[in-house]
Amino acid sequence: MELKDLQNVTRNFINDRDWRKFQTAKDLAEDTSVEAGELLELFLWKNGKEFDSLLKEDPALLKKVKNETSDVLFGCLAIADHLNFDLEEAFISKMEQLNKRYKIDEVKGKSVKIDEKEWLSNNVDEN
Ligand SMILES: [Mg+2]
Repeated sequence: MELKDLQNVTRNFINDRDWRKFQTAKDLAEDTSVEAGELLELFLWKNGKEFDSLLKEDPALLKKVKNETSDVLFGCLAIADHLNFDLEEAFISKMEQLNKRYKIDEVKGKSVKIDEKEWLSNNVDEN
């Protein structure tokens, strides 16, 4: 199944329940953020490396992470559907931009954060 198929599954889920009338892009962005918060909550106050190990040993816990991650993806797909854009195309475009911003020879093996706004202001053609 490709991403556009998942977008169709999302569209059908919303349409079958007649929920579109309750949704704006703002609502869907808020929902996506809330779901990302639910994902993050699973990790709250845990030691990251210990929790990674625990996730490999605890299928029920991993299932919770899978569910919340899927909720986030649902939100992203719903936003794309609502605004009528191809999320796969948008993602590929974003990855191309990230490849330029985080050049392998400059960042490999380094923990770095390159500010997007600053980078875009210096690379106007990428907007
Ligand atoms: Mg959730």
